[in-house]
Amino acid sequence: MERYRGKSVSPNIAIGRIWFYEKEKCQIEKRAISDSAAEWKRYEDARNTARDQLKELMRKIEEEVGETNAAIFDVHALLMEDADYNAYIRRMIEVQMVNAEYAVHEAGIHFAEMFAAMDDEYFRARAADIRDISQRLVGILTDEGAENVSWDEPMIVVAPDLVPSETVQMDRAKVLAFVTEKGSVNSHAAILARTMNIPALTSMPVKREWNGRLAIVDGSSGILYVDPDLPTLERMRRYEKKEKKAALELQKLKGQETVTQYGKKIRLYANIGNVTDAEDALFQDAEGIGLFRSEFLYLEKNSLPTEKEQFESYRAVAEKMKGKKVIIRTMDIGADKQADYLGLEKEENPAMGYRAIRICLDQQEIFRTQLRAIYRASVYGTVAVMFPMIISVEEVREIKRQIEAVKEELRQEQIPFEEIETGIMIETPAAALISDELAREVDFFSIGTNDLSQYTLAVDRQNPQLERFFDPHHPAVLRLIRMTVENGHRGGCWVGICGELAADLTLTEEFIRMGIDELSVSPPMVLPVREAVRNVAL
Ligand code: PEP
Ligand code: MG
Repeated sequence: MERYRGKSVSPNIAIGRIWFYEKEKCQIEKRAISDSAAEWKRYEDARNTARDQLKELMRKIEEEVGETNAAIFDVHALLMEDADYNAYIRRMIEVQMVNAEYAVHEAGIHFAEMFAAMDDEYFRARAADIRDISQRLVGILTDEGAENVSWDEPMIVVAPDLVPSETVQMDRAKVLAFVTEKGSVNSHAAILARTMNIPALTSMPVKREWNGRLAIVDGSSGILYVDPDLPTLERMRRYEKKEKKAALELQKLKGQETVTQYGKKIRLYANIGNVTDAEDALFQDAEGIGLFRSEFLYLEKNSLPTEKEQFESYRAVAEKMKGKKVIIRTMDIGADKQADYLGLEKEENPAMGYRAIRICLDQQEIFRTQLRAIYRASVYGTVAVMFPMIISVEEVREIKRQIEAVKEELRQEQIPFEEIETGIMIETPAAALISDELAREVDFFSIGTNDLSQYTLAVDRQNPQLERFFDPHHPAVLRLIRMTVENGHRGGCWVGICGELAADLTLTEEFIRMGIDELSVSPPMVLPVREAVRNVAL
């Protein structure tokens, strides 16, 4: 048995086999070959396998989420048969006499660059697809002979690193746990794991040879066991049972009010990224959705989601929540949440860079499409909208102008919509400090303590080395929260917290003393927070 200690990202225990996930074999070996016919045959076999995989993926996705979502794999299948792409690979194998994986890798780079340079937006978006199919083919070619672990059973996903776009694309029913080498506890991949209630560890010395081996992830204490011995397995199964029992105990709080001992009522909402999370939120008895991170719809895809696709997702969540409030946050892309197809330039300081509302106010087509989708969905439930990364009153006024323009458009087109609440995230010190002025512009504030801590303390939330400095309990952060609540209330806004701190049970009482109106937490934390609120003697 091997035992490793890392950092806990998301609690609970998982027991299962390891699936080692590598984004891309970074180093594609270039080898001289002597038999080009045999090498071409290897390529053709890989292409056949890829064809089967794509067909299977399409079938599954059509079955689970509908035909439109499966269409992307249809595009992949077509691109893989492209005559120019195949001729390029053949030339490299037959003329340059190099191995198939290297030829495919080079073809992927060549055609992705070609597509990315095109004027037409549709073709530019194909760059990501061509990279994707090349990766698939390289994966098949390089995995020949490796231990064949098919991902039919739920497994523990072990990876050097995982970015949010990869995490959201994984089939959650197949993921028992995440274990990564890189990554911070405050990153979005970590938040996703917590939202999905999947145990997760980081800062682990991951090894490719673990692929297929039995392991135990102890998400609560940060320990990974590879090839666990029988006594460890039995002990961890007992813990697992205990955890499940404690979770069951909490279920008793379903249907109960989130109210302190002396009757102060708190709205207890959940943070979600998609429709499945909304189901979890309902299951955990959340009273609404306090943060719908809409950017995950953008990250799941290889091109901008259309108005119709967005509308369908927002509508599905609004309908699912049956009149309970659903606060949709507009696209917060940038920093660690990157969508290749947007073609954003690499930045020296991405967290303080071109992200969120800055992109939206700049690229109005994208913003208006999203606003239209949100307003169209507003008639299917109780929808509200909020905007991330605000730093000025001018931004909010510009947003309001855009909203008015979109509403006018919808009126002209006789598309129904509701007048919905508008709010902003208070997640920069600038916004907290001018929250008195901002309160006059909107209906509510939602405090994003993850970014508020990062920017107040000048600590990159992505950097695991800085975790000891990332202290959201710092008096400076708490003072800004208090100031925001007071200013919000004075200006007629209700104020909530949707950052991870909202689920910090050691602060529940303090937040209530400050006068907070709403707490929005990952679905698994809804009932623990309800319990904490009910224990507050205020
Ligand atoms: C936050 O910054 O606290 C927040 C809720 O937004 P995100 O974590 O998505 O940046
Ligand atoms: Mg944020």
